[in-house]
Amino acid sequence: MIHKVVIIGSGPAGLTAALYAARANLAPVVIRGLQPGGLIATTSEVENYPGFPDAINGFDLAEKMEKQAARFGTSFIDGIVQSVDFSERPFTLTVDNGTTVQAETVIVSTGASPRKLGVPGELELANRGVSYCAVCDGFFFREKKLVVVGGGNSALDEGLFLTRYASEVVIIHRRDQLRADPVLQARAQANPKITFVWDSVVTAIKGETGVTGVALKNVKTGEATEMAADGVFPYIGHIPNTALFKGQLELDENGYVISDGRTRTNVPGVFVAGDVEDHVYRQAITAAGTGCMAAMEASWFLDKQDHVQEALGTW
Ligand SMILES: Cc1cc2nc3c(=O)[nH]c(=O)nc-3n(C[C@H](O)[C@H](O)[C@H](O)COP(=O)(O)OP(=O)(O)OC[C@H]3O[C@@H](n4cnc5c(N)ncnc54)[C@H](O)[C@@H]3O)c2cc1C
Repeated sequence: MIHKVVIIGSGPAGLTAALYAARANLAPVVIRGLQPGGLIATTSEVENYPGFPDAINGFDLAEKMEKQAARFGTSFIDGIVQSVDFSERPFTLTVDNGTTVQAETVIVSTGASPRKLGVPGELELANRGVSYCAVCDGFFFREKKLVVVGGGNSALDEGLFLTRYASEVVIIHRRDQLRADPVLQARAQANPKITFVWDSVVTAIKGETGVTGVALKNVKTGEATEMAADGVFPYIGHIPNTALFKGQLELDENGYVISDGRTRTNVPGVFVAGDVEDHVYRQAITAAGTGCMAAMEASWFLDKQDHVQEALGTW
């Protein structure tokens, strides 16, 4: 059987793409992957997804998205795509449960994972003081002392954002100078709530039911110290889940899928949505937005129509 639309990933991007493709009568198939519901399903409180004025649990939000997509005829496969062949249509996807899936169009929505520090306490205290998203969780840390780990643009950007709520933000960087853009560096250095700890790495995150502090090591002197803190935001980069697409899709130097701004990749018939392409906004709502776009583009591709070109009168 050749499916019209196969969606790789079941986060907000994939499930929104499924909803739109299902309502376009394309009977999409979603391959869920290791994390059904995507990253948003791992967070407890989502306060910035429109339509939920009293906040919603991330798992419940993802479940609602899946139910809504299923209601219009989406089917789901529990499995991880292990390899893809985009060299000819129909495209072929091999799933780890031993099945092979064929598709006229594919929507790639495999997300990007925050790079972990890999220290004791990080996993145990995730969502209990350890967060990888300042925009999502900063609000919960009013008048608290926070630690941001990293020295790039994201670390400074998010550190600055966190000063809106926190009483104090300590940026811990393993070198003695920042990698971030000079403008951001100047802004962070001028902010009275921000201080820096140089040449240091976090070796453990402390706390039982919530974060109480971090253990640090100075990489030059070897000195070990501890610092009290109420929250830890590691910002040492994201890893797009694109290993699977190397040699198949055009990726940028950091491994993100490149699109033409309308979710179309370099392979006609393969579209991309969500954080696997977007290294700027990384929000459930933006992932859902591009999921909608990808499904509409896939539908137009199957119809051999281009509504944008039509609207411009150039089709
Ligand atoms: C702790 C935390 C809290 C957050 N809180 C908020 C918040 O409050 N508000 C907000 O807007 N955003 C929040 N975000 C960000 C938000 O979760 C992401 O921006 C959003 O989930 C991205 O959606 P996505 O569909 O692009 O990717 P993801 O949600 O990452 O989903 C990727 C999907 O791809 C699947 N997949 C990956 N590889 C394969 C494969 N080989 N085969 C099959 N499937 C595969 C995974 O199983 C998963 O289902 C938070 C993120 C984190 C980490």
